[in-house]
Parts: sequence; structure tokens; C-alpha cells
Amino acid sequence: MILIFSAPSGAGKSTLVNYLLNSRNDLEFSVSCTTRAPRGQEQDGREYYFISNDEFLRRIQNDEFVEYENVYAGTYYGTLKSEVERIEKKGHHVIFDVDVKGGINLKHYFGDRALSIFVAPPSIEELHKRLIGRATDSPEKIQERVAKAATELLDQPQFDTTIVNDDLNRAKQELIQKVSDFLL
Ligand code: ADP
Ligand code: 5GP
Repeated sequence: MILIFSAPSGAGKSTLVNYLLNSRNDLEFSVSCTTRAPRGQEQDGREYYFISNDEFLRRIQNDEFVEYENVYAGTYYGTLKSEVERIEKKGHHVIFDVDVKGGINLKHYFGDRALSIFVAPPSIEELHKRLIGRATDSPEKIQERVAKAATELLDQPQFDTTIVNDDLNRAKQELIQKVSDFLL
């Protein structure tokens, strides 16, 4: 089975996905390719495969992606077919952490095999605060992410379900329940 997570940046998607990954041993994260530089403690092959623009374009030509997006101006992100095969060979369920457009595309691609989950912030103001608090992006990047969030929220109805990440512990419990129900 496939679990797709999308959210405006800063809503808490990585926090929830990491919690879910630690809560069960039959789930595995699909590592995407990106052309952005590693942030903080990120490691190549763990959070992303960090590759150059030329390498990304070569892989598009080779038809190596299920989907890819130019998520932020000049920065590509893409889901590798080889990741899905690698994880399915082990008999694990696949977890995707992708942007909102990518989430909609992956849901169309996998259909009923997939549960698409939209993680929503309680408000745009709170999202802004969390991005500042995370302290991983420049003020310009934060502005870009907040501006994008307003349009991303409009796509929420295209997802199978939404989790509003207000109180973190409550959101975690809701997530575990929804995933258990789906995987049953
Ligand atoms: P995303 O992966 O969606 O960009 P993160 O998981 O990195 O978001 O979360 C953004 C920031 O908000 C992090 O600093 C995280 O610790 C914090 N955060 C996540 N969930 C909550 C919550 N429910 N309440 C307050 N802060 C949160
Ligand atoms: P970040 O730079 O914060 O890691 O990620 C920025 C955005 O790109 C996030 O919304 C993340 O989910 C999205 N993203 C990561 N990998 C992929 C991918 O393979 N495809 C798409 N479409 N988006 C991705």
C-alpha cells in the first residue's frame, strides 16, 4: 500500500511522518531526488538524494521519475520509480512526502492502493511562526513558502483525508488511527 503526505511547508508533515515511521516497522520512506543543497543534519540518501541540475535533467530524459516538480523557483524534486520498487521488494508499505501537486499526481497514479493525506496548519499565521521557529530557511525563503501555502490550501479537497496539525499529540493519534484503518 501507499501513503502520500502533502502539506504547505511548515505545517508539520516531516514531524508527523517521522513519528509514523517510528511507530511501525512495515513502513518505509521513499527518498526523493532534489537539486537543493542539504540543510542542517540532512544526509545524502536519507532525507534526499542530493543531485545537480544536470543530473536531474538526465534522469528526466531517462524516464526515471514517477513524478517530478519544480517546487520552488529553480529547485527540482522528484519521486524515483526505483525507490518504489526497492521498498515494495521488501514487502513494506511506501511513504511519500511530496508537495501538494505531487500528492495529487501520485494519488491519480496509484489510485485505490494509496491513501492521500493533507496535513493542514491551524492557520497561515501559525505556519509562518513555525517556519521562523524551525530556523532552517532565510526570511526570503520563508516568505516564498508562506505565499505558496495560501494556494496550496485550496487543493485540500483533492486529498482523501485531512489532518489539522494543531495540538501535536492529538494530530499524532489521529494519524495512527487513520493509517491503521487504511492498512487493515
Ligand atoms: P514540514 O515538514 O511540514 O515543513 P516540520 O515538521 O519541519 O514541517 O515542522 C515545522 C516546525 O513546526 C518544526 O520546527 C516543528 O518542530 C514545529 N511543529 C510541528 N508540529 C507542531 C505543532 N503541532 N505545534 C507546534 N509546532 C509544531
Ligand atoms: P523541503 O525543501 O522543505 O525538503 O521540501 C520542499 C517541498 O518539496 C515539500 O513540500 C516536500 O514535500 C516536497 N517534495 C519533496 N520531495 C518531492 C518529490 O519527490 N516530488 C514532489 N512533487 N515534491 C517533493
